[in-house]
Amino acid sequence: MLVIGSGPSGRRAAIQSAKLGRSVLVVENRHRVGGVSVHTGTIPSKTLRETVLNLSGWRERGFYGLSYRVKKEIEGKDLGARLRMTLDHEIEVLEHQFARNGVRTVAGAARFLDPHRIAVSSPGGDQKIFEAERVVIAVGTTPHRPSHIPFDMSPFSTVTLLSPNRGCRAA
Ligand SMILES: Cc1cc2nc3c(=O)[nH]c(=O)nc-3n(C[C@H](O)[C@H](O)[C@H](O)COP(=O)(O)OP(=O)(O)OC[C@H]3O[C@@H](n4cnc5c(N)ncnc54)[C@H](O)[C@@H]3O)c2cc1C
Repeated sequence: MLVIGSGPSGRRAAIQSAKLGRSVLVVENRHRVGGVSVHTGTIPSKTLRETVLNLSGWRERGFYGLSYRVKKEIEGKDLGARLRMTLDHEIEVLEHQFARNGVRTVAGAARFLDPHRIAVSSPGGDQKIFEAERVVIAVGTTPHRPSHIPFDMSPFSTVTLLSPNRGCRAA
């Protein structure tokens, strides 16, 4: 079986199929597995929130007073460092889960040549063709950008907020 996408949907399909005895290959367009939940959605958003609550001392202010801070100046690099550590750990857990269950992964963009043949273009430009009896399409979604909102002015989505070229402003 071939699974396109390694987000929560693709991951579950791949692991479950492997547990049922199938030979499974996951194709992932990003350079590392995990999908939106690991790279730009669930885990990054909660990690950033928890890091700010932690460094700002917000939860302890009832005890120590309103001026209590764990760190006085919270900078983008403080958030970035914690985020990278958390995401690296999550990705390692996923990679280990795939390896433990014998699920193979390949990096690249998948496209159908016919119902059972998939071409995968690697980031380096090579193309490989894989054949599978069954294919699961678990490619997720991208943020909707209504035309009346000027997205060129602000980082409105977590995808742009978390891109490597974007800095974070101190809270
Ligand atoms: C800011 C934010 C916060 C969120 N918080 C939560 C939360 O707290 N709780 C919760 O349950 N959900 C949360 N979500 C939603 C959750 O992240 C998504 O529901 C989930 O990631 C969807 O999983 P998926 O597997 O369908 O798709 P995705 O996670 O989008 O994975 C799809 C994968 O397919 C890959 N792909 C796409 N096309 C191709 C191709 N042609 N070839 C190869 N690979 C391809 C993509 O690179 C991607 O990695 C949040 C989302 C966002 C944006």
